Amino acid sequence: RIAYVNGRYVSIDTPAVAIEDRGYQFADGIYEVCKVVRGRFCDLERHLDRLERSLDAMGMPMPMSRRALALVMEETWRRNALPDAVIYLQVSRGTAPRNHAFGASMRPSLVVTVRAAKFPSGAELEKGVGVISLPDERWANCHIKSISLLPNILAKQQAAKAGCREAWLLDEQGRVTEGSSSNAWIVDGEGRLVTRPLGREILGGITRSVVIELAKRDGIEVVERAFTLEEAKAAREAFLTSTTSLVLPVTAIDGTPVANGHPGSVTRRLAELYAEAEGMATAA
Ligand code: PLP
Repeated sequence: RIAYVNGRYVSIDTPAVAIEDRGYQFADGIYEVCKVVRGRFCDLERHLDRLERSLDAMGMPMPMSRRALALVMEETWRRNALPDAVIYLQVSRGTAPRNHAFGASMRPSLVVTVRAAKFPSGAELEKGVGVISLPDERWANCHIKSISLLPNILAKQQAAKAGCREAWLLDEQGRVTEGSSSNAWIVDGEGRLVTRPLGREILGGITRSVVIELAKRDGIEVVERAFTLEEAKAAREAFLTSTTSLVLPVTAIDGTPVANGHPGSVTRRLAELYAEAEGMATAA
């Protein structure tokens, strides 16, 4: 595997980042994850828009122009020769003697890596996955795609230990914010799609934005509002979305089956529309 690191293409196991890189010392950085399907980058402009917004919120410049960044991503992908791939891009504030405060003229570090895509299997999509609920212990700016992910990884680890795919995180009112690495959705008793509105409590998922557009175009009503864990457990359907999990049915929450415990029709419809939109649909 080949990675891009600050102007060089190197083997993935080459030590290539400075010890005093602030990404390493402080998790002072921003990342993006996008996918390539059959050689085509999916929703690249939306991912680069979000990267710019996150960097801006952290007072960090883009490491290079958008155009150059897209070329580096493409070249890194090309050198790995994987038609279906997940591209990880990380920008840290840069390297300097360790000090919490940072200077005005830091030069950001850019790392791009590529791995083979591992999307949910047909069986997982058919059966759905389980989630557990946990208190949301993250910070007040979850709309920023920060590489500081300690609460997220600990939540995900607890989910894995419980044999579940994801942890749905709860705010102090018992409402679901999102998953540790995905957005959370339910279908209510009237067949409306419900997901938390954009705000500081969630990451604005690219998949979330695509699914909202696809649903509306398909005549499915979308309500952006917070929902409680109780509502989710009593919902007609539930699912999660992310770039790599796609539209994945959630068929159990804390061990309680959602409805009859099988993926619902709205979820399946959206999974199909999303796969089509991203160029992943298998020829019918
Ligand atoms: N929420 C969190 C906390 C995430 O980490 C992610 C992605 O990893 C998402 C939501 C989904 O975002 P996207 O659809 O852009 O992958």
